[in-house]
Amino acid sequence: MGTHFLKIVSLAFLGSSLLLLQPFSVLGAVITDVRLWSAPDHARVVLDLTEPAQYESFSQETPPQFHVVLTGTSLYTKKRELEVNDPFVTKLTVNELEKGKVKLILHQKKPLTVNVFALKPYQEKSYRLVIDLIDAAEEKKEQEERQKQKEIKPRGNKIVVIDPGHGGEDPGAVGQKKTMEKDIVLKVGEKVVRLLSQNTEIPAFLTRKGDYFIPLEERIKIAREYGADLFVSLHTDGSFNPQARGSSVYCLSLSGATDQAAKILADKENTSNILGGAFLRPAAYAKDPNLNQILLDLMQNNSMKESFRFAETILAEIKAINSVKHPSYRQANFIVLKAPDIPSVLLEMSYITNKEDERLLNDNDFQEKIAKTLNASIKKYFRP
Ligand SMILES: [Zn+2]
Repeated sequence: MGTHFLKIVSLAFLGSSLLLLQPFSVLGAVITDVRLWSAPDHARVVLDLTEPAQYESFSQETPPQFHVVLTGTSLYTKKRELEVNDPFVTKLTVNELEKGKVKLILHQKKPLTVNVFALKPYQEKSYRLVIDLIDAAEEKKEQEERQKQKEIKPRGNKIVVIDPGHGGEDPGAVGQKKTMEKDIVLKVGEKVVRLLSQNTEIPAFLTRKGDYFIPLEERIKIAREYGADLFVSLHTDGSFNPQARGSSVYCLSLSGATDQAAKILADKENTSNILGGAFLRPAAYAKDPNLNQILLDLMQNNSMKESFRFAETILAEIKAINSVKHPSYRQANFIVLKAPDIPSVLLEMSYITNKEDERLLNDNDFQEKIAKTLNASIKKYFRP
């Protein structure tokens, strides 16, 4: 949905490359792109800007709309309107009110809670203005549905949460043929959940069900709401060296990485929050004052020990279908693996930046093989 939309809107607004051909000088910020990402409980609209822009925003009740007025900003079209296929937003309109003043209107299907925040350039990303339109009732419903799974779980059953990395604004690693990590990990994640769900004793759920971004801390929160007994974050590796290949498995380290490469990888995976545009609502991540630190450390130690056991199980299984980069698991400070009470492992399935691996990662049979390997590893882990 997001990428498709991107193309349409890029044409509507004239890409930055075309702007270079304009004979007149450009003053202030220029909106070069607008993207929309649909999540089950919110819609995210992202504006790309050549410079930071001053903006004012306000909600209108009837009809429900959200207005953003950007000053010192230009648009090279007189008026634009865009219908979108989203659960919460029907269309976007952009008007140039006067020279250097642009008004964006988001036409909503119902009243929504809105968060607006600006992001600075980072790596290939330009200045961005992010508008999150949140359906608070739907957000609560999603949360309650997750918590219900924990309550209805029969004794002895285990819940697994599969976390397809990246999503939305954060594509993850990108292959030579433009294969995006976020798309591959979602496909494999869906296959793992389908396989595990055939076995009613190990119900499995995804943190992310589509192409949208979830902050790393929120992925842990989702797993905890499900009452997960195991958390698996799925990724594909990327390297400047096109020869690099193979699978690798990672666990959390609280005391520094096992090696420099593991540290670099964890740093890279942790930038997901910056690329994806994490807006941390403080209430969601505040520490529970009732939690005893000693108890928390004990839980964390036990979870990590269990993570190591699961990591070894995956490595033993995955060898049969792919080359393994390191004979053992590695450890580093991955934010997404920090649940104190859930054994958590991160799998780098293969290198998306290697030509042959990119082909395999796109191949349905190979995706199926990885999913089957994970399914077998998870079963072995719970029933050794
Ligand atoms: Zn990744």
